[in-house]
Amino acid sequence: MFDMRAQLASKFLSLNFFLLANEKNDDFTVPVSQIKKWMSDFYGWAQEMFKDRPYYAYGRNVTFAVEDGVFNKEKLKAVMEAVSEMGFSVFLKISLRSLSENLDFMMELSKQKCLGSLMVTIANKEVDALGDVEAIFARIKKMKVAVTLLGSMKDFFIAGAFSSPSLNGSDVCFFLQEPEACDKLNTLSKEMTPCQEKMVLCVNSEGLIFPCAGLMSSPRHSLGSVFDKDFFSTFRMEGDILEWAFVGPDLLPEGPVLSESGMPWPCRRHVAEVLTNG
Ligand code: SF4
Repeated sequence: MFDMRAQLASKFLSLNFFLLANEKNDDFTVPVSQIKKWMSDFYGWAQEMFKDRPYYAYGRNVTFAVEDGVFNKEKLKAVMEAVSEMGFSVFLKISLRSLSENLDFMMELSKQKCLGSLMVTIANKEVDALGDVEAIFARIKKMKVAVTLLGSMKDFFIAGAFSSPSLNGSDVCFFLQEPEACDKLNTLSKEMTPCQEKMVLCVNSEGLIFPCAGLMSSPRHSLGSVFDKDFFSTFRMEGDILEWAFVGPDLLPEGPVLSESGMPWPCRRHVAEVLTNG
């Protein structure tokens, strides 16, 4: 019989891990030792899951997203080194402001080969305060890592990203976090499609694990926690989540929409409904 749970689990090759400094800033709220242990279990689970299809093992990656402000560089480096040694490609998601404050450290990570790709979020509010943005782009280019810029068209223009001599001809992907057209439509133009291709394991800063970024604001849709013993044989993935994965959420044509978020409009619409209905 077609095992939907296993089918969906097979999509979880990649994951997003949100890191938040603890109060003393001597580690993250999920300690690095626990992240390493859980990632090692994830590696073992994926190997077992894909033993008949080893090609699935390629292209596994983990994106660590660091909050703005203080983060412990040694701890971040330790976790990135450990995870890249396990064979994961390591992406780092960071704001342009935080990146500009840590350029030497980022350069060090790229030289150590534990930084596979940089995902840089740009918010126009902060661009003015950064001064010479082109100088930051020039340093990014020297890191020789794949770069994705995340923001709106307006943010990219304000930062001068399209006219940047450093980025011109470089391997840079521009990722529109919120296609402006979605806001203008402001209605469901067609039926919701199944979510399975959009789903990716997301771990929040407390260690709770979710099937997609949107559901991170709804603790009851957590699959479990990185602190759970035997998470990979016990994780909850049933009911609503399977239905959304294989059919898509059943949304009314009109309803609340979550504002101020980088998520696509259908997710903002769905999450608003999930939060409203409890
Ligand atoms: S529509 Fe809902 S379940 Fe589907 S990916 Fe978006 S937030 Fe997740």
